[in-house]
Formats: sequence, C-alpha cells, structure tokens
Amino acid sequence: MKKLLSIIFGVLIISCAVKQKGSNGKDGKDGETSERITISPLDIKASMDYLASDELEGRATGSKGIEKAAVFIENFFKTNGIKPYFETYRDSFKLGEIDGYNIIGMIEGTDDKLKNEFIILGGHYDHIGKGKVVEGDSIANGANDDASGTIAAMEFGRYFAKSKTNKRSILITLYSAEEMGLKGSANLAKRLKEAGLNAYTMLNFEMIGVPRTQGESMAYMSGYNRSNFAPTLNKYAGEEVVGFFPKAKEFQLFYRSDNFPFFKEFNMPAHAISTFDFTNFDYYHHVDDEADKMDYDHMANFINKMIPALQGMMNSPTKEVVLNEK
Ligand SMILES: [Zn+2]
Repeated sequence: MKKLLSIIFGVLIISCAVKQKGSNGKDGKDGETSERITISPLDIKASMDYLASDELEGRATGSKGIEKAAVFIENFFKTNGIKPYFETYRDSFKLGEIDGYNIIGMIEGTDDKLKNEFIILGGHYDHIGKGKVVEGDSIANGANDDASGTIAAMEFGRYFAKSKTNKRSILITLYSAEEMGLKGSANLAKRLKEAGLNAYTMLNFEMIGVPRTQGESMAYMSGYNRSNFAPTLNKYAGEEVVGFFPKAKEFQLFYRSDNFPFFKEFNMPAHAISTFDFTNFDYYHHVDDEADKMDYDHMANFINKMIPALQGMMNSPTKEVVLNEK
C-alpha cells in the first residue's frame, strides 16, 4: 500500500510541474527549462511492466522476446519524436547464426555549431533469457538488469525530444548482446567510429532500479578516476548525484559493461552509472529480477536529478568533461 500511495503522490507533483514557463515568461527563448517536464513513476512502471514481463521471455539475443522488446522501443521512439540515426532505428549485426540489433534514436541539437557534437546515452535491453528454476519460474525477466537502464535512457530521449533543451545532439542507444560479452555496443562503437562521428562523451545506465543504502551519493560511476565526468555532472546538477564506489573499482565494473567499447574506440570519457551496490538487490541474474521488485519513485527521482546534469553537459560552450592525465 505504501508504494501505491507514493506513486499516486508522484503523479500529483507531475501534473503540477508540466508546462511551467521559464523565468523569462517565454517558451524556448532562453534555451533552458522553459518547459519543465517531470518524468513520471507511472510511465516508467508502464515500460517496465512490458519489458520485464514473462511474455518477453527474458529478452535473450536472437529470441522472439527480444524482437518484441525492440519493437516496443522503436514505437516509443516514434511516438515521442525521437528520430532514427541510421536509415531505420536498427543497427544490425551477426553473432554466428544469431541476428542481433541495437536500437538507436537521435535528438538533434538546437545550436548550429554544437549540434555536430554527440553525447551518447544508453543501456542494454537484452538479458539472459532463462535462469535457474525457482518455484517453477524459469524466466529471467531482467527488470533491474537492464530494463531499468534502458528505460532511463528512453526517458532522457523523451525529455530532450520534447523540451528541445539540448544544444549538442544526443544518441539514445539500446544494446543487444551485452550479456554475450558487450557485442552490441562493440558493434555500434566501431561503426560510429568508422563513420567519423564527432562524439563528446558516453554514459551507460546499468541497474538503477533500486536505491542504494542510505548515506551515500544516490548513484555511482564506474571508472570514476579516469575523467572529471562525475564532479562535472554534480556541478551541473547542483548536488552530488554521482559518487565514487570502491566496489566498482574492486570488481572493475568499468570494463564490464557497454561504456567500455566506446572508451576503447573513441578514447573519450565513457562510464557506467548505477545504483546497484551489491547489497541492495539479491536477484542479479536470478528469475526474481522482476518488475515488482523495482522502486519506481527512486527511478523517477534518479532520472529527474540526472536531467539538469545532462543538460549542463549538452549546453556548455566548451567540452568540459575530459579524461584525466594518467
Ligand atoms: Zn547489465
């Protein structure tokens, strides 16, 4: 009951916050938050209820379930004015006999010059398919891993396509075959590099479905010391949203998700952001990683706090996020 009430409360706030005008009283003139759109826990839950449903059979690369997930994301892009970057939304590749496809959307920047620079946001929409059977359930739904990060990236896409508050261009990139060894992101990073994309940074959202234990920054960044990305985002956000997490270093999470191929190809700041801290979620790669285990107020809160941080990066006159000297 508690959760239900807080979701309803969240909706009330949203309906008040939508379409407030900017401080100058005009729409879109100052290029900042002339139209404040707040991401809703209910919208997030609706996407989660589908992406992590049994119907999608754990979204294994090459399965019928992942095809349904891909169509769902494509429709979300279409509905929300997010354009294809390639001829279609799909970036296809072969893994032996298996067909894989990433789903890629673009939001063009509003500034004539800065729109040539791209910020890449993403998460992996595939999962492992079947897991070890528990009480007759064999479907590994992958709600936290990584429908949560996928939905975060989709919601950032929706926000910027609607608000048009990004001077730089954005790619929303949802990867397949992460669970098979980062194959989807590797394919895309290589393809974009070969095409000469002018990429500035990449952020990968991994397992942001439940909050960390108290007293820590809301989220953490893998490869924290490789760049000034986290402190720069926090400066834009006006608070510490993203911190350092020793376990991320200990387990070398920087190399273990879809940010790594982008770092490798582009030698640019490319990190994963997560709220999974090894103690707050018992269902990693487990059949109980399900939609009803997610905290939708937390997810909405995280996404909403990230928006001004991302906006700062999209609109700064110069590239402030840089790799640290070794
Ligand atoms: Zn993952």
